[in-house]
Amino acid sequence: MLKTRVWRVDAARPDPSAIREAAEVLRGGGLVAFPTETVYGLGADAYNASAVRRIFEVKGRPPDNPLIVHISRLEQLEELASSLPPAAEELARAFWPGPLTIVVPRSPRVPDEVTASLPKVAVRMPAHKVALALIEELGSPIAAPSANLSGRPSPTSAEHVLRDLGGRVEGILDAGDTLYGVESTIVDLTSEPPVLLRPGALPLERIEHVLGVKVSVPEFARGLREAEVALAPGMRYRHYAPRAAMVVVESSDYGDLARVARTVARLALEEVRRGRRVCVLCTDETLGYYSEAAAEGVGLKSLGTREDPFTIARNLFRRLREVDDEGYEFVVAEGVEERGLGLAIMNRLRKASGFNIIRV
Ligand code: AMP
Ligand code: MG
Repeated sequence: MLKTRVWRVDAARPDPSAIREAAEVLRGGGLVAFPTETVYGLGADAYNASAVRRIFEVKGRPPDNPLIVHISRLEQLEELASSLPPAAEELARAFWPGPLTIVVPRSPRVPDEVTASLPKVAVRMPAHKVALALIEELGSPIAAPSANLSGRPSPTSAEHVLRDLGGRVEGILDAGDTLYGVESTIVDLTSEPPVLLRPGALPLERIEHVLGVKVSVPEFARGLREAEVALAPGMRYRHYAPRAAMVVVESSDYGDLARVARTVARLALEEVRRGRRVCVLCTDETLGYYSEAAAEGVGLKSLGTREDPFTIARNLFRRLREVDDEGYEFVVAEGVEERGLGLAIMNRLRKASGFNIIRV
């Protein structure tokens, strides 16, 4: 067991001495978890192969699941990539720093451990003062996946990181809750048209608007099935998942929420009557439909309001962790419309359920 140091820092004006100490840990080959605007990352010096290997050990992450490299200045993109497609520069200019990861051809300088030996590398410039200050202080890019145990919901607070990785990593920079609560959007720019590998905090529509082309959206990016390893490494495991069994109830018409709620309530009641501890993940708009279920002991949690999917994205992983902490055995979740942030929300819910989807 390691002693995990926690540096509490201000998200807007991080204490330079904490950043210096954390960068020193990274320089020595150690691991530091740090906040970004999406979720907390578990960082290692991207050019230190043995430090990067430790990320996989500590998370229990399959070695064929590559890491995103985080940068603080554009020159670092040029140093990581062997060539840059024009779309890379357009997207970097439009969205960095921000919740977009681009996949580009990789330079030989990047260790195999980072890319799982793929010929391409995933790069992003995060929009968070703490993350940027840490990369600047280290003076080189930081490889970082989400700072959770592999398979668990991604961490949106330092407490989540401590719960999963306390005693296993050298330090955590704690700057409170993250802004978006879902991971970055990943687009692969090594093919034409570009391919969405993972929907995330940056809506796909905004990327397409800047590029002036449609991005290809494979079924696995919608969370409808598992990916083939060659297409999207690391996208083929049950992920983001609570320990509880889970089902997602989807609709082609969320204008008719009563219809969705009727099915959710029926499934929840069936399970609670079998003696299982059941929780419904609903939205502010549908809370009122579940009074009968609640009276029979079904737990209710709202993810946020459908009027503002940002709130739903932001609460999602926290709610999935609460479900486990509170001992629920079965979760019934309502779907949301697959537009804007809704694409990322549905990807996470479907994967969390192990693709257990019911359509009404
Ligand atoms: P995480 O940060 O844990 O959400 O994981 C990062 C994700 O980025 C991985 O699961 C991969 O699917 C994706 N990724 C990272 N590097 C690459 C790459 N070189 N090629 C394709 N996808 C990548
Ligand atoms: Mg992850």
